[in-house]
Amino acid sequence: MSLLDQLINNTVRPDVRAIGTYHVPDASGYVKLDAMENPYLLPQQLRDELGARLAGAVLNRYPPSYASLKAAICGKLGVPAGYDVILGNGSDELISMLAMACAKQGEARRAVLLAPVPAFVMYARSAQLAGMDFVGVPLNDDFTLDLNAMLAAIEQHRPALVFLAYPNNPTGNLFAAADIERIIAALGSTGIAVVDEAYEPFAQHSFMGRLPEFPNLVVMRTVSKLGLAGIRLGYMSAAPALLEQFEKVRPPYNVNILTQAAAEFALDHLDVLNAQAALLNHARDALSAKLAALPGVTVFPSKANFLLIRVAHADDVCAKLLAHRVLVKNMSKMHAVLANCLRVSVSTPEENTLFYDAFQASLV
Ligand SMILES: *Cc1c(COP(=O)(O)O)cnc(C)c1O
Repeated sequence: MSLLDQLINNTVRPDVRAIGTYHVPDASGYVKLDAMENPYLLPQQLRDELGARLAGAVLNRYPPSYASLKAAICGKLGVPAGYDVILGNGSDELISMLAMACAKQGEARRAVLLAPVPAFVMYARSAQLAGMDFVGVPLNDDFTLDLNAMLAAIEQHRPALVFLAYPNNPTGNLFAAADIERIIAALGSTGIAVVDEAYEPFAQHSFMGRLPEFPNLVVMRTVSKLGLAGIRLGYMSAAPALLEQFEKVRPPYNVNILTQAAAEFALDHLDVLNAQAALLNHARDALSAKLAALPGVTVFPSKANFLLIRVAHADDVCAKLLAHRVLVKNMSKMHAVLANCLRVSVSTPEENTLFYDAFQASLV
């Protein structure tokens, strides 16, 4: 064994050595429909104004305080009065922060992070890296929550954190609000429910305004799916006393000053981004109807900016789409309920047509 191999064996955790790195495929030359990005840029005039705004950013100093961005988020994105937010370098970082804060060590058992599965992959990954046990509770075949199984698992495992993506990724559906309320109530003073609203700009359903009803609720969002995936900004809110605890695990300067300036600028033009989201919602419904008319194709209802599609042979279809230079996500291997499913982002009318034509050609 080489010295480097020995060094790695002697130092890096076995569970870290065992996992693969998060793979981001090179998408140049492809129609990129695998990551739920908004295909639209800001209009040229706004981009010019943004350039001027960024030119004024004070790059030689640490970010001074996040007060003005937080105030803009609280004021414009429905955070209840008296509630603050914590910012993250993407909501991925917020998920890690929650896991880090709740991964109690040295107790009789490890702390548990629970989520319905299939779920967003970072929940299990963050739990593992923080030293929590991950418990996945299978969804029903129609992707609704199996409420009895969720309540039984909560009773059995007493999770410190329960993550619920609303709408869910990769299934695209909104869970029943009444089911979520039951889960929050069952957790009571023993666990925190985290409602992850990454797709709220499309779904237009939220628990944010209901935070005052539930002391054990965290609501998390990101600007990524709204059209700002490149700036990496997530935010979460909860009862002030709870939020104060999570603030302690946040790296002090985690959100950089360019992100801060760009986000404040974007929030001044929120109407532009919301109009793009509305356009994508229409495009989604149109594409969904077209795809559903194809023989042997099932399109699942979606409240997000992507569609989950079942075909007869997903591996084959994905390989053929790749040959057509179209990148989608093959979900087949992720979970039994996703057998032969692929996930595709909704895009511009041009790209949706490109996808539809390539997809149709890939079915034969
Ligand atoms: C995309 C996504 C995220 C990650 O968002 P970032 O802010 O880009 O890190 C979180 N949760 C869900 C459910 C997502 O689909």
